[in-house]
Amino acid sequence: MAEATYTCILCLRALQAEEQGLLVLGHNICPECESKIVSLTRDDPDYEHFKSGLKKIWQRLGA
Ligand SMILES: [Zn+2]
Repeated sequence: MAEATYTCILCLRALQAEEQGLLVLGHNICPECESKIVSLTRDDPDYEHFKSGLKKIWQRLGA
């Protein structure tokens, strides 16, 4: 049986168990995205993408 796989909620990359970086409300964010979020600025073309990705998590929580 295969090991449980985890997917980064932001880049949708399959993660190895040891790669699980940030766990936000049951969703994994890989180390790459985590550091990306930390360094993101409003001028970054990825800013909206990451912001909407995180918003999905919050919306699920509040639903
Ligand atoms: Zn990621």
